[in-house]
Amino acid sequence: MPLTKLRILTHRMTGAERRFRLRTLVVLSSLPLFGVVAAFGLAPDTNTLDITPQTITEAIALPALASVNTDGTFARESMIQAGDTLTSALSRLKIDDLEIQRLLATDAVRQLASGIRAGKRIQATTTQEGQLLTIQFERSDAPALTVHREGDSFVAEESSELLETRVVMRSGQILSSLFSATDSAGIPDKIADQMAETFSTSLDFREDLRRGDTFSVVYTVNYRNGEPIAAGKLLAAEFVNAGKPHRAVLYRDPFGHEGYYTPEGESLRKGFLRSPLEFSRVTSSFSNSRRHPIYGFHRAHTGVDFGAPTGTRVKATGDATVVFAGRKGGYGNLIILRHGNGYETYYAHLSAFASGIRSGRSVSQGQVIAYVGTTGASTGPHLHYEVRIAGRPQNPMAIKLPGSPPLPVAQRGRFLQQTADWSDKLTLLRGTNLAALD
Ligand SMILES: [Zn+2]
Repeated sequence: MPLTKLRILTHRMTGAERRFRLRTLVVLSSLPLFGVVAAFGLAPDTNTLDITPQTITEAIALPALASVNTDGTFARESMIQAGDTLTSALSRLKIDDLEIQRLLATDAVRQLASGIRAGKRIQATTTQEGQLLTIQFERSDAPALTVHREGDSFVAEESSELLETRVVMRSGQILSSLFSATDSAGIPDKIADQMAETFSTSLDFREDLRRGDTFSVVYTVNYRNGEPIAAGKLLAAEFVNAGKPHRAVLYRDPFGHEGYYTPEGESLRKGFLRSPLEFSRVTSSFSNSRRHPIYGFHRAHTGVDFGAPTGTRVKATGDATVVFAGRKGGYGNLIILRHGNGYETYYAHLSAFASGIRSGRSVSQGQVIAYVGTTGASTGPHLHYEVRIAGRPQNPMAIKLPGSPPLPVAQRGRFLQQTADWSDKLTLLRGTNLAALD
């Protein structure tokens, strides 16, 4: 394989280019923001997927939301799922076993454990060190049960606090980067991350993002006594990239499993990620995003090269088994993953492997497997990425990547009942957004 033909990826900006970009960014960031367009309120309910939002007459201006409370404590929340025990639900909140035992020694909590119901929320507050301070259990036909720490034990009391979930709808436009746009639109980090993750099987946010792209999100926010306490979950989203809309709606199947689908019922959860490189608040930037990957896919060059700094995290693009992790000629440090259906992916020139990555190990989609480097026949830090089908290299940017099985026909009605309303809201939001831009 003529790896010496690798193209050099280190693109050095000239002084003039750099100044131009800086000036562009400064001008853009002083433009008025296209932020909140609408907000809707919901009656208190835990089952937000099954109810229709009631429009309230005035838009709600939400204060900034974060999982860190103003007093420095952390708020965590989990939903009881089908098949859960109270212990498994509490473990998901990262409460340690000893604390769970102490909680279950509290009479009221022990009683609760025998009759937990899927769909009910548990909210915990912990110190920065992770010590549990308070925990609140939503119950059926009874006020929430609040449990406070007192020394080494816990005291329970029924709470008259009003917990509610509201549905919020926002949209925005990309001016500089995805996260500055979601910040400008007042969208919580957790929701922005969920949106980026949801679309990561259909969009490469590092490379595809364009100025003028628009997005809309529908998500829940949890309130206590009228005060927002935490961002909930993404219910629906639309991302219009270079004029092409991508849509996602959340669907909960009869077994309580949730996943994102297109409004037509195609799963977004599986398949392959569009990019093997991490996209995050730290790694995203518009100047990089405008530069397309050096494709270099031709007969002599069997993959796609992504320019990225040494140390950038490399993700498995699909669930797989590691079949090779080591040094191999011009590839330098190389990982080969074997997926289903005869697909293999290659990740080359790595500076290092993530811990635990070796031949025979299973990895899941999005798992960090390695770090970008310039080992082997490489002239600058970049990732060489290959997709092979039945041993033959394919252009990863051109092939249709395998997806999850479609929604079972028997669930069609349920799917539409849950999601049709969110799809309508996305259409409404897009209309509003375009009007705001005129
Ligand atoms: Zn290459």
